[in-house]
Amino acid sequence: MRRISIFGSTGSIGQSTIDLIHRDREAYEVVALTGGANIELLAHDARQLGAKVAVTAYEDKLPALKDALAGSGVHAAAGEHALIEAADRPADWIMSAIVGSAGLAPGLHALKHGTTLALANKESLVTAGPLLMSEAQAHGTRILPVDSEHSAVFQGLVGEERSEVERVIITASGGPFRDWSLEQLAGATLAQACKHPSWDMGQRITIDSASMFNKALEIIETHEYFGFAGDMIEVLVHPGSYVHALVGFKDGALMAHLGAPDMRHAIGYALHWPERRNLPVARLDLAQVGTLRFEPPDEVRFPALRLARDVMEIGGLAGAVFNAAKEAALDMFIAQEIGFLDMARIVEVVLNEMSSATSLGNAALTLDTVLEADKEARARARACHARS
Ligand code: NAD
Ligand code: MG
Repeated sequence: MRRISIFGSTGSIGQSTIDLIHRDREAYEVVALTGGANIELLAHDARQLGAKVAVTAYEDKLPALKDALAGSGVHAAAGEHALIEAADRPADWIMSAIVGSAGLAPGLHALKHGTTLALANKESLVTAGPLLMSEAQAHGTRILPVDSEHSAVFQGLVGEERSEVERVIITASGGPFRDWSLEQLAGATLAQACKHPSWDMGQRITIDSASMFNKALEIIETHEYFGFAGDMIEVLVHPGSYVHALVGFKDGALMAHLGAPDMRHAIGYALHWPERRNLPVARLDLAQVGTLRFEPPDEVRFPALRLARDVMEIGGLAGAVFNAAKEAALDMFIAQEIGFLDMARIVEVVLNEMSSATSLGNAALTLDTVLEADKEARARARACHARS
C-alpha cells in the first residue's frame, strides 16, 4: 500500500485528489489530511479514509476538530507546527495543495524525508524555487508538477532532450475579463472576478486567473521547475482551455497537450507517474469543440504578466516578494478594500520599493530569508494601500 498525505485536503485540488483515492481505496494508506476552517469536511474525510492524523491550520479550531473526530482513532492537531509534524510523518507521496506561501514549509519538510511531492502549490516554486529543487535533488526525490500547464509540459518532455527545446508555451483561458477594457477592469467587482469561464477552482486562484496573476505565477513556475530561461517561455490566450501547453523544439515542431479542463488529469498523472492509468475525466470530442482559438496576451490590461518578467530578471528573493505582495493585495481585494487594478499597482510598488531598498537578486535563499521577505512584502503592500 502506498502511504499518502494530502495538504490542503479540503480545497478544490484536495477534494479532486480524494476523489481519485476513493476510486482505488485499497491501494492507499492515508497518513495525514490537512485543512483550514472547514472542520466538518476535514473530519469527514479523515474518518472515511482512516487517516492517522487530521490537522487544521488554525489553533482555535482544535477543540472543534477533536469533537468531530471523537472515537474515530484519528489524531487531531492544529497550527503551523502540527502541519510540519504531519509533513515529517513517513509517506511515499504527498499532495501539496495548500493555497499560498503557507504551503512552502510543509513541502520542504516532506522533501527532506525523500517523499515524492506532487506540487499544486505553485507559490512554493515562485517564492523559493531553487531551494525546493535543490532539496529534492539532495534527498534523491522528485517534485511532480500538478498545475495543468506544467503537467502538460512535463508530459511533452518525456523522452525528449531539454537541449532541443526552443520554447515553451503555456496557455491561459483569459478569465472572465478577457475582452474588458482598462476602464471596465477598474470597476470589476469581486463577484465578477469569482466567475471563471472554464475551470472550477478555489476562490483565490479564480481571482488570480481573472487578473492573470495566476499566469504570471505560472511563468515563474515554469522557469523555476524546468529551468528554461524567461525568454523561452510564452503565454498564449486560449479560451476554452483545451490545449494546456505546447513544447516547441528546435526543428520547429510543436507538441501540444490537450484535455478536458479537469484537474483530475494532472493530479492522476502525478499520482500514477511514471505509469498512465485510466482516469475518470471526460474524453475530448474535438469535432464537437470544432475550433481552437488563440490570441496574444495583453500586458497593458494585465500587467501581472510584465511583472513576472521583472521577477525572473531580478531573481533571488524577488519571487517571494512578488507572491507575498500579490497575496496581500488579493486579501484586500477580497475584503473589497481596493479595486481590481489596484492589485497589480500595489504589487509593482512593493517590488520596486524592495528591489531598490535591498539587494533582492543577490540575497541568500533560505526558508528564513524567504519568510522574512514574504512578511515585509505583505506589510509594504498594506502600507501602500493605506497611503493611497
Ligand atoms: P482552495 O482555496 O480550494 O484550497 C486551499 C486549501 O489550503 C484548503 O484546504 C485550505 O484549508 C488550505 N489553507 C488555506 N490557507 C491555509 C494556511 N494558511 N495554512 C494551511 N492551509 C491553508 O485552493 P485550490 O484551488 O485547491 O488551490 C490549491 C493550490 O493549488 C494553490 O496553490 C493553487 O494555485 C494550486 N492550483 C489549483 C488549481 C485548481 O484547479 N484549483 C489548479 C492549479 C493549481
Ligand atoms: Mg494552471
